[in-house]
Amino acid sequence: MATSLPARADVVIIGGGIVGTSLAYHLIKTGIKNTILLERKQLTCGTTWHAAGLVGQLRASRNLTELAKYTTGLFEGLEKETGQATGFKQNGSISIALTEARLEELKRGASMAKSFGLEVQVISVGEIKAKVPHYDLAGAVGGVFLPKDGQVNPIDVTQALAAGARKGGAKIFENTKVTRILTKDGKAIGVETAQGTIRANKVVIAAGMWSRELGRSIGVNIPLHAAEHFYIVTEPINELPRNMPVVRIPDECTYYKEDAGKLLVGAFEPVAKPWGTDGIPENHAFETLPPDMDHFEPILADAVARLPMLEKAGIALFFNGPESFTPDDRYYLGEAPELRDLFVATGFNSIGIQSSGGAGLVLAQWIKDGHPKMDVNGVDVRRIHPFQSGKRYVRDRTVESLGLLYAMHWPYRQVETARGVRRSAIHDRLVAAGACMGEVNGWERPNWYAPKGVEPKYDYSYGRQNWFPYAEAEAKSLQSNVVMFDQSSFSKFSVEGKDAAKILSNISANDVDVEPGRIVYTQWCNERGGIEADLTVTRLAEDRFLVVTGCAPQTRDFAWLKRHTPDDAHCVSTDITSGLPMFALMGPKSRTLVEKLSGADLSNAAWPFGISREIEIGYARVRASRITYVGELGWELYVPTEFAAHVFDILRDAGGEFGLTLAGMHTMNNCRVEKAYRHWGHDITDEDTPVEAGLSFVVAWDKKGGFIGRKSLETQRERNLQPKRLVCLALEDNSIRAPMMYHEEPIYRDGKLVGATTSGAWGHRVERSLGIGYVKHGDGVSKDWLDSGSWEVEIAWQRYPAKVQFQSFYDPRGERIKM
Ligand SMILES: Cc1cc2nc3c(=O)[nH]c(=O)nc-3n(C[C@H](O)[C@H](O)[C@H](O)COP(=O)(O)OP(=O)(O)OC[C@H]3O[C@@H](n4cnc5c(N)ncnc54)[C@H](O)[C@@H]3O)c2cc1C
Repeated sequence: MATSLPARADVVIIGGGIVGTSLAYHLIKTGIKNTILLERKQLTCGTTWHAAGLVGQLRASRNLTELAKYTTGLFEGLEKETGQATGFKQNGSISIALTEARLEELKRGASMAKSFGLEVQVISVGEIKAKVPHYDLAGAVGGVFLPKDGQVNPIDVTQALAAGARKGGAKIFENTKVTRILTKDGKAIGVETAQGTIRANKVVIAAGMWSRELGRSIGVNIPLHAAEHFYIVTEPINELPRNMPVVRIPDECTYYKEDAGKLLVGAFEPVAKPWGTDGIPENHAFETLPPDMDHFEPILADAVARLPMLEKAGIALFFNGPESFTPDDRYYLGEAPELRDLFVATGFNSIGIQSSGGAGLVLAQWIKDGHPKMDVNGVDVRRIHPFQSGKRYVRDRTVESLGLLYAMHWPYRQVETARGVRRSAIHDRLVAAGACMGEVNGWERPNWYAPKGVEPKYDYSYGRQNWFPYAEAEAKSLQSNVVMFDQSSFSKFSVEGKDAAKILSNISANDVDVEPGRIVYTQWCNERGGIEADLTVTRLAEDRFLVVTGCAPQTRDFAWLKRHTPDDAHCVSTDITSGLPMFALMGPKSRTLVEKLSGADLSNAAWPFGISREIEIGYARVRASRITYVGELGWELYVPTEFAAHVFDILRDAGGEFGLTLAGMHTMNNCRVEKAYRHWGHDITDEDTPVEAGLSFVVAWDKKGGFIGRKSLETQRERNLQPKRLVCLALEDNSIRAPMMYHEEPIYRDGKLVGATTSGAWGHRVERSLGIGYVKHGDGVSKDWLDSGSWEVEIAWQRYPAKVQFQSFYDPRGERIKM
């Protein structure tokens, strides 16, 4: 251990669990030698020491799987590199399904894994039996085997990472608690400890379940909460095969791991026990929590039935230890939006061991280069909304988060705890109209509307869910009449000042320096040309703009805007989401309805597409913007909050004669997939460029002053044909048997894997199972190449013929929008 605390560092890491230590190891590898890690007690003393040590590789997205795969590779070679044993064993893992739905989930995961280059096998009950003959497989219907999954000893791996970091020059100080993070001018500049102060260029919070409080002390939101997490370890069992793969039976919430002849049985029970709401005790180190046999008993009963040998084996250890969970079960990485140079790597939701290598690698590169090397928006800390770090919210959600790891990962699955947080001004009216609410970032949003007599409640499946016919009716009404979407949850920023146009022009790929009253669809790109945000900018006056973006990227997009506003600029940006609900009236009869209510002329000549103006509805003045995200004629109405109920009532009452109905977010999503309108976070991310995404037509290549990313995009555009392109897919089968695409389904051309989907939905207007995805071809993705191939999409381990084309399947010429 290093002895005297240096005065300066490039990076100070707070926390010596596996995550902080892995970061130190990777910072050294990226060349940041002046790295200091501070641990309040001893390395691993928080959560790491008692982890079960499972190292699985399959995660929910391509890049997170890539990172978990990297972790396995790292662990494999760490002992050789550092001389420190890690306990790494690679016996593989089997997940066993007890229902057909779970088997479909596993098969969908297996297809995804295959497209990520993971070794994976879908196996029968007989094949499972051959691998784990000591299990009673009653009720099993099949499973998936990942031969390269493994297990480690978490303490030893952490020590190995520390040894590697030290060898490269990192300094690690134990018994050194950070008592304060130092900040100046909106930046983190160092840390204070009882042993002295260290000035640093960057500070990283990798403090596990202590992170929320540390963040709060400097105004940084890190919503996480500890939960009790249980496993038992048996006495040695002679009959237990030493090469036993890890076994997961998610339908019984259990996992099983052989460890030195003993069996470890752990659980992800559906109702968890939050712990430490009032703070983590100061002395907590290598601590266990009191056992709770009543809580674990149902799990144990299932385990004994599965493994009869457990009945005779004594329990050597009943373990209960805390781990931190986040509201969406995903960890946090990256630079905090609230404070420059303050990074986080925390909230690992019981997968911190298997994520540690990849998270350390990505964050080290991020710190060095100023951006991650790959799209990791799923775990980016900029997805947090400040309210989420409230104690009560995060505690209540933790009851559910832990169990979600092994729960069915149904498409459209909605959380059930800590609901009703952010409601639109017309929430109660929508509920009365039959809305089935879904949740995004705390917002309650109508996902679909149940007709009279039908309960607005999900009945989940991988196929057509119970709301399918209602969404179909909504889409048909959208196509022939007019519907209203409550889009209050969409984020809105006001950007004002003499420099507002200059600042927005610099970050927007399209030309936003337009006449007042024009709406511009644009991307905000990074220097590499990757898409950081996808939104509209409406010029309200010479010095006033309205930016409208999605619900989920509220914090991220606002942070991007602020970070690209120079301190001395005459420009103020304000998040006005709360004050400006938005109702979208979409469909061919939207014109006559709004004309009747407002008295305004909405004809094509008087009000072309892309124009925004104020109109009167009832006693209210509202901004009406002619634009669409569903591919029909329509107007978005921006209504100040206190007028929202009044305007809604008028619309509803007047809408009857035009067949106005309410429509939900599922219909919006289905329709935008039909139109191939890209969705940020899925179809476009910071590693996809407008050129690859087929959005070159909204890039103002020659605009005066340029924009961030232009150079990279121009270089890319010089290539006539792109090796990676976004395409639209439709399954040939349009019968009721046609399966649904959701995301990450592998795409094959002439039997060769060439890509994967990024979105999927049923298109009610074209009556097909649709997808959006990227395909790759070294010589360039051309129309000829698309047309000359024979295409298939793999869904749940089975391939289906598909049509693939650049343009959308619904109204590719956009005629309906301009009708
Ligand atoms: C029962 C159980 C089983 C698990 N099984 C697995 C598994 O099989 N596979 C898997 O991948 N994951 C598993 N996990 C999860 C895994 O253990 C965690 O995700 C991981 O250890 C988190 O590591 P960390 O470095 O983020 O946090 P920690 O290990 O808690 O490290 C944070 C460190 O920060 C230090 N610290 C806090 N505040 C300060 C301060 N002010 N100054 C200095 N230092 C500070 C703490 O002392 C602590 O050592 C399991 C967890 C539990 C509880």
